[in-house]
Amino acid sequence: MKSIKITKITGEAKKLLIEASFNLPGDIIRALEGAVKKETGTGAQKILELILENAKIAREQKLPLCQDCGLVYMDLDIGPDICIEDSGNLNALLNQAVADTYTGCYLRKSVVSDPLFERKNTSGNTPAVISTNFTSTPGLHLKVYLKGGGSENCSYLYMLNPSSGESEIINLVLDLVKNNVTRCCPPVIIGIGIGGSSSEVPVLARLASFRNLEVRNPDKRYKDMEEKIFDAVNKTGIGPQGLGGRTTALACNIEYAPCHMASLPLAVFMGCHSTRRADSKISPP
Ligand code: SF4
Repeated sequence: MKSIKITKITGEAKKLLIEASFNLPGDIIRALEGAVKKETGTGAQKILELILENAKIAREQKLPLCQDCGLVYMDLDIGPDICIEDSGNLNALLNQAVADTYTGCYLRKSVVSDPLFERKNTSGNTPAVISTNFTSTPGLHLKVYLKGGGSENCSYLYMLNPSSGESEIINLVLDLVKNNVTRCCPPVIIGIGIGGSSSEVPVLARLASFRNLEVRNPDKRYKDMEEKIFDAVNKTGIGPQGLGGRTTALACNIEYAPCHMASLPLAVFMGCHSTRRADSKISPP
């Protein structure tokens, strides 16, 4: 068993929050660069170039990629060889790391307390959405995701009839994109969860929307489906920021899980062009 101090985890969380806030991931930059070459209209090209310029300025000047600095999601994958040292409430300390980073780096704090009546800002962008998963992979893997309100609002859950097939799902996703994508700053990353349960499938969709764009589903059937949806979405002509063009989506990623035989859960999450993530494998001393 290897011990990792809580302070090491919270210190790493702060570093990842800063990295994610200022640095658009390399795979998203490459997808945007590729999209500029595919566009023929000057308007669409210009918008994509501005997104890339914005990412360059954010990286070089350590400025937030977007005015909406996002709701923080944190996933901790804890391997069987890891023991977390020190007493203390890990969730509370991770939330303190979020509050310290958002305050110290002048990031916009967007979380309100009571969701319906008061909607008072909690002043630290907390609570973050923290998940701890015990995995069979050795080591501790910390992942940080920042999700803006626009993309958070383009999240959908369906409990389909198990007889629904691939084409029904593709048409449903296409309708969702046509009716909603302009609300989440396209080009988007379409994350789709299929299967699991009503509470698990949104997690699958979230993980799909944050998956590296250059990684396709290892199952050929789902990989083909990712490509069909990606092509169909880009044929809509909605384009960057909804102003026309060939690039409505940068990728479509699908994650799936076994489900009850009477159900077919489906969740669709649209990540905006400012999809921010960072991760780190923390090794014991
Ligand atoms: S949807 Fe994304 S790019 Fe648009 S305002 Fe929100 S965080 Fe920023």
